[in-house]
Amino acid sequence: LTTADLIDEHRICVCVRRRPLNKKELAMKDVDVITIPSKDVVIVHEPKQKVDLTRYLENQTFRFDYAFDDSTTNEMVYTFTARPLVETIFERGMATCFAYGQTGSGKTHTMGGDFSGKNQDCSKGIYALAAQDVFLMLKKPNYKKLDLQVCATFFEIYCEKVFDLLNCKAKLRVLEDRKQQVHVVGLQEKEVKCTDDVLKLIEVGNSCRTSGQTSANAHSSRSHAVFQIILRRKGKMHGKFSLIDLAGNERGADTSSADRQTSLEGAEINKSLLALKECIRALGRNKPHTPFRGSKLTQVLRDSFIGENSRTCMIATISPGMTSCENTLNTLRYANRVKEL
Ligand code: ADP
Ligand code: MG
Repeated sequence: LTTADLIDEHRICVCVRRRPLNKKELAMKDVDVITIPSKDVVIVHEPKQKVDLTRYLENQTFRFDYAFDDSTTNEMVYTFTARPLVETIFERGMATCFAYGQTGSGKTHTMGGDFSGKNQDCSKGIYALAAQDVFLMLKKPNYKKLDLQVCATFFEIYCEKVFDLLNCKAKLRVLEDRKQQVHVVGLQEKEVKCTDDVLKLIEVGNSCRTSGQTSANAHSSRSHAVFQIILRRKGKMHGKFSLIDLAGNERGADTSSADRQTSLEGAEINKSLLALKECIRALGRNKPHTPFRGSKLTQVLRDSFIGENSRTCMIATISPGMTSCENTLNTLRYANRVKEL
């Protein structure tokens, strides 16, 4: 079975990616508790303590469509996850790709890429890699004759409010018309002619996203970023690929925080991630009813969850350290549920 077959069958592909232990974790002698023994299995060696205080490791095994270890590049992750979905949008379909996981586990690295280094080619993320393939596909005779226009949008959802990352974080309203079509009013949609145009937009959006942030507890880890590649034919939408860098899931449980803002954020994130899970599950079961009104995120993605030709992939990112064990198990359980029929 290839990825494409799996997606054809279920319309959903769920993968896990672990990152290497980082310097901080190495410095504090954090222990690596994740093994990936084969290309679709993840084992968490959870530290436990018996009543008599002897310590032992309990192994928990999870199976996914793919499990990527720390030697995997963005390009390889892309090949098995988002890449098979590029064709969907040329065939008048809707595609979504989500990165889900705790803050620091590698969502932004996977989706947005890492442009801090000098070698840009090695650090492209899924936004740019997908765009690159869109421009390649555009040259195929079958699609060339459609005379498609490529556009992009980039926005952020923070505490159920939408902000345009291509327009100085302008706050946008979301309206639903009588046909249940959802509109993000005033969202900037920029035409892009090549991958470089896309890279520039990503840079603009990212600097807008992180501007004014100081701490590690920054706003960007508590918001969902949505990057969309839209194909238009004579002005009408032909297909759309939404690539989403979700808010860190670790605060899901932290709704009892003393800090009112943090607790509010946690509650909103929790709500939207639960709604997302239900919408993806509805898509996988071909259920006619999609509970998209559960959150702003699922509402703005409504058109991507309905329709005959909608496909999605989720990349659950995990930190390998023992100190992240609880969050990692939560991430893996969530990813498992998304796929369960
Ligand atoms: P998140 O967006 O989930 O909060 P980031 O993508 O910002 O996490 O990753 C946190 C740090 O870990 C960054 O410095 C990033 O460069 C690094 N990192 C993440 N994933 C990988 C990976 N697969 N390989 C190497 N470094 C990674
Ligand atoms: Mg991030």
